Parts: sequence; structure tokens; C-alpha cells
Amino acid sequence: MIVADVKNWGRGVGGNLAGFRSLLVAGVVAVAGLSACTAGTPEEGSLEGSNASADAAATQAGLINPENWPLQSSVFERDAEIEDKISALLARMTLEEKVGQVIQADISAVTPEDVRDYSLGSILNGGNSAPEGDVRIEAQAWLKLADKFWEASTDTSDGGLGIPAMWGTDAVHGHNNVVGATIFPHNVGLGATNNPALLYEIGKVTAKEMLITGVDWTFAPTIAISRDDRWGRSYESYSENPQIVASYAAELVSGIQGAVNTDEFLGRDHMIATVKHFVGDGGTVDGKDQGDNQFTEAELRDLQAAGYPVAIQSGVQVVMASFNTFHGRRLHGHKELLTDVLVGRMGFDGFVVGDWNGHGQVAGCSNVSCAQSFNAGVDMFMAPDSWKELYANTLAQVKSGEISAERLDQAVSRILRVKLRSGLFEAGLPSSRAHAGKWEVLGSAEHRAVARQAVRESLVLLKNNDATLPLAPASHVLVAGDGANDIAKQAGGWTLSWQGTGNDNDDFPNGQTIFDGIRETVEDAGGQATLSIDGSYTTKPDVAVIVFGEDPYAEFQGDVPHVDFGSEEPLRLLKKLQSEGIKTVAVFLSGRPMWVNPEINASDAFVAAWLPGSEGGGIADVLIGNSDGSARHDFKGRLSFSWGKEAEGLAPNVGDEDYDPLFAFGYGLTYADPEPLGLLSEETGSKTGGLQSKLSLIVAGEANPNWVMVLADRAGEFPIIGATAQSPDAHLKTATVDYLAQEDSRTFSWADEARLELKSNHGPQDYSTEAGSDLGIQLTYQVISAGNGATSIGVSCGEGCDASLDLTDAIQAASGEGWRTSNIKLKCFADADFANLTSAFYLKSESGLEIQITAVELAQDVGSDQPCSL
Ligand code: BGC
Ligand code: BGC
Repeated sequence: MIVADVKNWGRGVGGNLAGFRSLLVAGVVAVAGLSACTAGTPEEGSLEGSNASADAAATQAGLINPENWPLQSSVFERDAEIEDKISALLARMTLEEKVGQVIQADISAVTPEDVRDYSLGSILNGGNSAPEGDVRIEAQAWLKLADKFWEASTDTSDGGLGIPAMWGTDAVHGHNNVVGATIFPHNVGLGATNNPALLYEIGKVTAKEMLITGVDWTFAPTIAISRDDRWGRSYESYSENPQIVASYAAELVSGIQGAVNTDEFLGRDHMIATVKHFVGDGGTVDGKDQGDNQFTEAELRDLQAAGYPVAIQSGVQVVMASFNTFHGRRLHGHKELLTDVLVGRMGFDGFVVGDWNGHGQVAGCSNVSCAQSFNAGVDMFMAPDSWKELYANTLAQVKSGEISAERLDQAVSRILRVKLRSGLFEAGLPSSRAHAGKWEVLGSAEHRAVARQAVRESLVLLKNNDATLPLAPASHVLVAGDGANDIAKQAGGWTLSWQGTGNDNDDFPNGQTIFDGIRETVEDAGGQATLSIDGSYTTKPDVAVIVFGEDPYAEFQGDVPHVDFGSEEPLRLLKKLQSEGIKTVAVFLSGRPMWVNPEINASDAFVAAWLPGSEGGGIADVLIGNSDGSARHDFKGRLSFSWGKEAEGLAPNVGDEDYDPLFAFGYGLTYADPEPLGLLSEETGSKTGGLQSKLSLIVAGEANPNWVMVLADRAGEFPIIGATAQSPDAHLKTATVDYLAQEDSRTFSWADEARLELKSNHGPQDYSTEAGSDLGIQLTYQVISAGNGATSIGVSCGEGCDASLDLTDAIQAASGEGWRTSNIKLKCFADADFANLTSAFYLKSESGLEIQITAVELAQDVGSDQPCSL
């Protein structure tokens, strides 16, 4: 069902969209064409109905009135054969087996034997989890591991029923956890394509690639409607506009699962999809991940939940509960929304999965115990590392009656129904299935062509003065900027690793950089393309394409206080090239609209390219024309997010009262219809400085993209990429831990002499200005155990060029004192060559030191009277 009419999008800088406002006011029910219909009798459509309308006070308390929500009947006729099987299974299952079904564990914390012994219903791989703990392992390893889990879960030798466990993964822009897969543009780019039918194709290809590796289920699509670009997950949202999200939700779900009520549905070419995160994730205060949504109930329904009725009509089998709260109430414990609305009103007939220990945040709960969440309607706990204790506690709660036998049976039935519907019981060993092991299909030319089309159609042309584009194919093109030859940067977060960090081009054997796409195209036409990241050249080019933008990020870490792009180098580059009389074409890679007025002013043409993924060639398809000056492909992309005039505060959203964007929702130039852009104001930047400040070395346990954390011992060094790592001789180990947020810190444990070091990615870095000022290395840490050796902190300009301070006593004194922040003045490192730092921070110790670190920054002294110690 394609429901959005996106043809009449607004055009023109600062254009107003009165039409849209009325559409929004009309609400999604009308928009989606779902006339109110009489509900069938969905199982627990308990509309414990208060007939009072949800007034402001109730909303303030996080309450909603289910009767205010659209009513639709289930798209499924229950299949008698499946229902009989469910009853038969339930009758034979032990209580333990039932509890096992409702728990999902992460492959980094569960073994196949555990899955067998506890009869777990499901496993997942989180963004940093992969077979053998290696997120860059060859694709074949996934299928091998899938076989092991399958064999274990279906093993009946212990007298159990052997119900197959289903494997879920975040295939959110292609099968993005697996090396060699086709990586599609992130949703923000797809939202601009104005092509819902393409989403169906993308779903199909993604399902195919997942089937090759033996997984059963994807946690996609995200159908959040992001209303605040500061939210780090904005790029997972198709649009700020509910209509676009609703129409896409239907298509992507159908692509993955097959069209509902047809033979292809959950057939051999398809698999289980999830819509997430129910509900309100895109509308939290200040765009804070996992924050509080303070919308009215009507806004929650019409602006945040718009995709759900449609996705459910498309037969989506799983809904993931959201981390956010609604007026203070955690969604993971919100019975009216999870049960009364989702099942009772919207006719959802699959199961609800929790999000990563999300149940643990419900009032009165912990990661290992939460009857409330289960009773509210979460049917399967996502309990990555907490599953074992949660299992024991849930079992005890069933025995004590805190969880009723009926509720347990209900959740188990829902899970079994999805497993039966999808044919999991008969699917057999993963490696024996129809698509399994067809490695030539992973990242095949055919699949990549779909992704390349998506890239082409997602590009939004914001400026094209003097018909700078299309470029003549037989010209000399200089390709510059740190995004020019970097697939990881094109791909963004949720790519191989959780945050998308630590990847390089070799990790994408089937991908193409933007530069390579340009080179291929111009060389075919007899032209020349030169890669020069810093923009230097020997022969003056005809034109320069500068590719730059945000570095990869995902949840939490992508949340920003403002959307000032703020990085200095790209602007310097653009200005330098322009001053040399070279036309500049900016290709901006970002997960959201950002304040880039100075960069736009310094460009003759400016293209918003979002996060295009592995098919960099799609950019050349549109930017480079035919030799007769005509375009090969015109721009099709139109903004699905309004582009604001200011960096600070909430960016405008279509339908706002005083809608006054820089580029309106729906904006996008074409070759056919050019329009010159005058100079933009450069006054409205942020007050707080650039996003990836040079001063932030480690934030929330992650290194600034210019640096990499390595663990070094006598046998060499090892970069930290995934959640856990160790130095080559195992002298030093690390693992992520939670401090203020999930996995925002790391524990480092020394077994023998070793060094934790923050090393430059880009050669020596100049910090002489910082060293000359009063800045210090500011560490936020806690010492768990000081060990018995000497500890020192230092900076380095390469081999034999260390400058360090002894910290042995300070570490002893800090041991067991909890979290603290200390500042050591840069001036204390007397011998350091700050103009050539290869390491901005290292910590060296011997056996026994265990320290947790969340942040290392360069900052003004916090007032210590010992400027040269902790
Ligand atoms: C995210 C989900 C994701 C899950 C599993 C969570 O932290 O919010 O979107 O599906 O992890 O990786
Ligand atoms: C996982 C993600 C998950 C996140 C939640 C990460 O380690 O890889 O999938 O969303 O933790 O905090």
C-alpha cells in the first residue's frame, strides 16, 4: 500500500507549505487511507476503556486513552493448523522452556550450549557483536555460527522440545554487520528519494543477503519520525513527515517479509522484519536519545506513531519497544501503548521485543528482573548480557504468580506463531536453506545496482550557481576532502561496528569510494580525476569536488547540542580552491541537515549526499554529465527534513506554526529547473564550537575520529574496534562498561607491562597552541585497583620521543575512590614536542592496574593544586 502523495512537495528557498499543514492536521488516519473499521476480535483487545478523553493532566502523567487511537482489524486470518500446533507445543512445554522462549541473549554473552540448556527463544548480534568477537570476520563465519546455534536449539537429546531459536540482527541499511554486503544509504537519504517502490526492492535485496548468512530476522525498519535533528539517530528516520514514513514503512516491510497474504509472504526469499522503536523515539526533548517525549497524545499518534498502523497492515511480525519515556513513563512498561493500543486498536498480531536491556530502565526494575515490562506487553526481553539472571528471576516470578501463567502462555504463543508463520520449524540447518552460502550473491552487481540507484535518487541539490553541474566528463577533476576516498565515512554508523568507527576501505571488498566512482566515469570519457585529500595539486584542475561531512556515529554518541558542522578544514579547502579560481562542488556527507552556511557560500554547487553507503559511484552518475553538456541523470532528491537557518535550538519541521526554514521540506533543485542561490548569512553559527572538537580526545569511551585507541605490549599493538580487545600478548585487556549511559566507558586491566595509547590516525598533529595556553589533559576515570607496579601518563611524538609523568602514588591514592575528574597541565610534559604529537595521551603500567575511563579531553584546569598529577 503506497499511501503518501509526495508529488506536490514544496519548492523554493524558504518556501511555505500551507498545504502540508492541513494534511498534518487531518492526521494520519485519513492520510493512510485507513478508515476506521470495526475491529475483529484481536486476542487481547482489552480496551479497559475509560471514556474520558485524555486530558492534559492525564497526558502529563504519561497516560493515554486507547480509544483515541485508530481502530483496525488484524490483517491475518488465524491459521487453524498453526493454532493447533501452538496449543500442542504449549501443552508439552515445561515452565522452564516457556521462560526460555521469552528471552533473547547476545552472541557475545551466550554459547550454543547455553541456548540448548536454557531453551532460549532467540539470539541477537548487537552492533559490536559478531562471530568470534570479530566484527570484520569473513562472511562465512556467520553461517557457520548460525548452524551451531540451530543445532543446539533444536537438540532434543536432553528430552526438551528443541524449538528453534531465531537469530535477529540490525540489518538497517543492508546486511550492514557483514563484510562484503551491499550497504544502502541510511534512511535519511532514502527519505529524499521520493520513491517508495524502491524501498520494496531494498527490502528484498537486504533479506536475500541476510538469508545467505543464515540469520532469520532483522530489527528494521526504523520508522521513527525524527523531529529534532540534534538526535543522533535522525539518520535512521526517513523523514520528519509522517506521510513519508508511513508509505516507506509499508514498502520496506513488504520487501523484507514479502507482501502479506500472498505466497511470497515469509517464503523462502523473505524473512521477519521489525518496526521500531514503539513509540515516540523521534520526539524526545532536545533530541536526547532515550529521552522523554512530551508531545500531546494526538501528536504522539499523528506525528510519532504514523508508521505503525500501516506497517501492521503490511503484516510486520515484530514491534520493538522504545527506550524513551512518554511524559516520564518508560515505554517498556507502558501497558496502554504496548497492549491496548498496539494489539487492541492497531490489530498487531506478532510479538513485541524489548530493546537492549530497555526493561531495566522501567521504574522498580533492573536488567535482570522486570515482571512489570513483561506484564505490560513486552513478549520477548532483549537481555544481551543479563539473560541468565533474568531467566532465573522471570521463572521465579512465574512461580510466585507475579507473572501469570496466562500472560506467559500468551507471550510464548505469540513468539511461536511468528516462528511457525515464518516456517522456522521446517527451515532446517541454516546452511541447508535455499539462499544459504551463495556468497556470490552477497554484494552482487545486481544488488549493488539497486543501492546505486538509491544513492542517485537520494542526492539533493541545494545550490548550482552558473550551471556548475553537471561536470563535463572529459575534464580534469580534483577530488578532495576527507570523505573523498573513505567508504566508512560514506556509510556512517551501524556499519560493521556499532558506531561505524574503525573501518577502512579494505573492510568493504564490494564497495566503491566516491572518488573511485568519479575516476571511473571521467576516465571512461577520456578525462582525468586526481585524488588529493588536502586539495593540493601540480596541474590546475578544471573543477574540484570536495567531499566532507560528519564522521560515523550511532546511538547516544551522535546526539549533539546544536547542528553547527563546525569543522574547519573543509571550509579552508573550499576557500583555498575558490581563491585559486577553481570552481568548487561540495558533496556533504551527513546524517541530518546541518548549519553549513559558510561552506555553502564557498561552493559553486552544493549537494546534500547524506550517508550513501557502499555505492559511491551513484554520486558520479548524477554529478558528471554527457560530453554534449546534458545530464546523464537529473537530481531526483527532495528534502525529507527541513533545513534550518540556525545551528542552535530545534530545527524547523514542516507544519510548524512559524515555519521559516532555509531550505523547505521538499526542496531540491534540478538541472531542468535551476535557481541561483545568493550569499547566506554566516552570523548564525553556534556559540559552542565545532562538533568534533580537537579538544575531545575520548568521549563516552570512544576515540575522536582523528585518533585510535591501541593496546600495546612487547608483542606489538592492537587497535580497539569492538567492545572488547586485548594487546597481542594479552598484557592489557579492555571491555566496555556502563557509567552514565550504556557502554559509555571502558575498563582497562593490566596483567603485565603494557601501554594504552591514543594514536593519531593522520600523522603527527599540531597541539602547540593548546600546549601554550593553560590547557591540561582532563581525565574522567575511576581506579578499581592500583596494582603493584609503576604507572605513568604521557604524550608522544613517536618512537623515543615520549614525555611522561609518574602517577604511581596518585593512582594508589585514587584506588577505590570512585569516579573523578582530574586535570594535568600540558605544560607539565616539559620535553614534549606538541607540534608533532603522534600520541596525545598514553597510560603505561605493569600488573594489576584496573582503571575505567569515560573521557579524556583537553580542558582548562578544574582547580587542582597539583597541576602535574592526578
Ligand atoms: C538499539 C536498537 C537495536 C538494538 C540491538 C539498541 O541499542 O536501540 O535499535 O536494534 O540495540 O542492536
Ligand atoms: C550494541 C548495540 C546496542 C548498544 C546499546 C552495543 O554494544 O552493539 O547493538 O544497541 O550496545 O547500548
